[in-house]
Amino acid sequence: MAAYGTAVRAVTIPPTKDSACTVVEPVEVEAISIGPGRQRIALLPPVTLSCTMALAVAKWLEISVQPLAKGYFSQDLTSLRVGGGHECRRRNRAANGPLSEHSTGQALDIFAIMVGAGKAAGTIVVEKPEGPGHGAFLDALRQSACGAFMTSLGPGSDAAHANHLHIDIQPRRAASSRFCQ
Ligand SMILES: [Zn+2]
Repeated sequence: MAAYGTAVRAVTIPPTKDSACTVVEPVEVEAISIGPGRQRIALLPPVTLSCTMALAVAKWLEISVQPLAKGYFSQDLTSLRVGGGHECRRRNRAANGPLSEHSTGQALDIFAIMVGAGKAAGTIVVEKPEGPGHGAFLDALRQSACGAFMTSLGPGSDAAHANHLHIDIQPRRAASSRFCQ
């Protein structure tokens, strides 16, 4: 797949059998290449996403996250520690209630952002931004996610999102409304 000058390194996988949790065009994404230099951003570990979500993430990494990494740390974005790709479950792992956006592959959870390589490598942990500039970088990251996705939730939103940034492209019930906290 290629779009916006980016490429998603992914394998197409068969759709799930559970109809409540069907992912449209599921792909297992292990890396996303961005920019003219085809700079490779690894997703650790690889996650299963819908093709549409994979492209939305690719576009966001190129347009927002890489420039923020450059701006705050003078480093290239290198990888994301992620979780919560496709998983058939209810929101916040509750026993009842609506299905999570993860159940359709439309969501991704980000736990840490890695920039630079070798001695210059740094890790920005969403739960505990400790290094210089980490807090401001994460604030800017969340603001950009707010514009790029339908929902973005993170530390301070609620207890279920204390240690990661959740982003998804599931349309919300009120048309054209976005949910950012
Ligand atoms: Zn999530």
